[in-house]
Amino acid sequence: MISFDIGQSEQRIVFAEGVLSHFDRHRQTRFWHREAGGLLFARLALPTIDVCAITGPRRSDRRGRCSYWPDERAEQREIETMFGRDLHFVGCWHTHPEDRASPSHVDTRNISDCVRRSEHALNGFLMVIVGRDPLPDNLFVSVCDRITVHRLERSGSA
Ligand SMILES: [Zn+2]
Repeated sequence: MISFDIGQSEQRIVFAEGVLSHFDRHRQTRFWHREAGGLLFARLALPTIDVCAITGPRRSDRRGRCSYWPDERAEQREIETMFGRDLHFVGCWHTHPEDRASPSHVDTRNISDCVRRSEHALNGFLMVIVGRDPLPDNLFVSVCDRITVHRLERSGSA
């Protein structure tokens, strides 16, 4: 379990072991590995946002070494299925072929589109990028509003 504090909001994002091992399995540690990605779902026990379910990649996604285009219809179905299990769609994840991940210009633009299209209980939308290094230093974890990507610090790491 790894947790991140959301600024001064007292809200905290916690990643369950199953989600972390999913990130770990899809790290692009070989040059032929393609980007992978999917969606993140949480149980809301505010102030804790327990990210406990993860989807993707899917056969129908378009994946390159430095690009990732999810199957949006599949994503919509996942959101509906998870909602039926009381799991809220809170954001998305994808991998990068760099040791410590940071968002590209495309990522920053795409995420503001996602924020516009989605409605949920979080103050923003979670974007996780998974780099090649071992967890957790490879992770870029952020909360995004329509304009800005706010990187989060790991709890207790300050
Ligand atoms: Zn990216």
